[in-house]
Formats: sequence, structure tokens, C-alpha cells
Amino acid sequence: MAVYDLLRLPSPDVREVIARMPVAVIPFGSVEQHGAHLPCGTDVFAAEGVAKALAEKLGCLFVPFGPYGTTAPHVGLPGTISLSRSTFEGLIRDISHQLIDGGVKLLIMLNWHEAHSSAIQSVCAEVQKETGAKVVLAHAHFVAQRIYAPEGGRLTHAGSIETLAVMAHDPSLVHADRFKTPHRTAKAEALDAMRRSHEVYGFVTDVRDLSEDGWYGDPTWAKPEAAVHFTDRVASEVANRLFEVWEVLGVDRPNPATASAA
Ligand SMILES: [Zn+2]
Repeated sequence: MAVYDLLRLPSPDVREVIARMPVAVIPFGSVEQHGAHLPCGTDVFAAEGVAKALAEKLGCLFVPFGPYGTTAPHVGLPGTISLSRSTFEGLIRDISHQLIDGGVKLLIMLNWHEAHSSAIQSVCAEVQKETGAKVVLAHAHFVAQRIYAPEGGRLTHAGSIETLAVMAHDPSLVHADRFKTPHRTAKAEALDAMRRSHEVYGFVTDVRDLSEDGWYGDPTWAKPEAAVHFTDRVASEVANRLFEVWEVLGVDRPNPATASAA
């Protein structure tokens, strides 16, 4: 099935795709340093790759958000550009409302970046309440973490799973000659565990408190033969969860078979 990329479609075709399948997938990444071995667009490539694969499976519209997110802990390190929270939330709100005005009844926010999760979540709930359309949030990085954990993959900043995601997008962007073992103190490990607690936790506002190098993990785990299947594996698992969520929400599950050939 084709990917119905909003930027590549003439206007009447957009209307036709939405009329057949009133669903849009919007990717959320971030522009930020990922050490010396991965590009600053790592999260963008991961989010867009999975979002496109998901949109293709569903036969629905893929709507780029633009590469930026909010990423305060990386600000000041070269290549990092973070939107203010108000700018980021305003963009989500404007894009969502106009898609819904255009006939979209279900928005799927496909996220690959932890730092702005709460902002997306709060805007999603508001948009749903204001419009009556449904909004679903998919944290693809956590889905990937669950999929790859039994195989030794870990979700860390610029570590094994993120290296795999970049390899899937464009292997030439992975600088394997710069792989190394980042130095982490016991305090950094404790801070990381603390911020990831779901119960009582404080905040880490500079990534270098988690690792002097600004990243950690094991990029050597990522292999080209696994990267080939990355977007499809993650998108398939997101789709499985999505169908369960649709059922709970009482949304009619769209039939991709009727949404082919725009
Ligand atoms: Zn990342």
C-alpha cells in the first residue's frame, strides 16, 4: 500500500484519502545531540520511519509535524534546537484542529522522545475534548524497548535501539568508527533510575548529569540485518495496540482494504 504523505499529495487527493480513511498519523521527534556517532536528527528519523510504516499499514494520511520538539536537557550542546513548551503545544493544537476541520476523526500521535511526552499528552486531551475527534498517543520508543529487550536492546540516549533506528533510516549516518564505551558514574546511574520512577522523582535538566559524554548505551548492539526490519516490527506492534485501543474507545476499526489507490 502507498504512503499517503500530505506533502506529496495534491489537495483533492488529500480530501479523497481522508474521506476513505479519516485517520492521520503525526510523528514527533526532536533535534538534539546524540554523541559523536549518531546524527542530531536521530529521534526525527525514528519517529518518521515508524509513522510512515504505520500510515502505510492503515492506508491513512501521514502528516509531518516538522523536526522540532522540546528537549531542555540537551540545550547548549551543538546541534540541539528546542522549542519552548508554548510554541510546541501551539503547533500541535493548530495542526490538530485544522486536520479535524478537514474531516479527520482520529489523530495518532506517534512519538519517539521522552522529554515532551507530557506536553503532547495534555494537548491531546484538550483537542479531544474541544473537537469530539479521538486522539491516540503512541510512544514508539517504549514499544521498541519492549520488542528488543529480550534480544538485549536497551532504550538509552544514542544507545543500542537508537543506533538501530538510524541504521534503518540511512546506515551512512551511523559513525561506527566513533563507537566507544561512555563513562558513567554511580551517581549518574542513580539519577537516571530516580528520574524514571513512576512514583516519587526529581528532574534531570542537563543530560551530562546522566553521562559526561551526553549519551550512554551500547551502539555496537545494532546490526544491519536487524535494522532492515526495524520500522515494520515497531509499526506492527503499535498497530496491534492501536486496534485494542480503538476497541476500548468504541471507534469503528477502519478497513485499510477500502482505502487503497488514491
Ligand atoms: Zn534520541
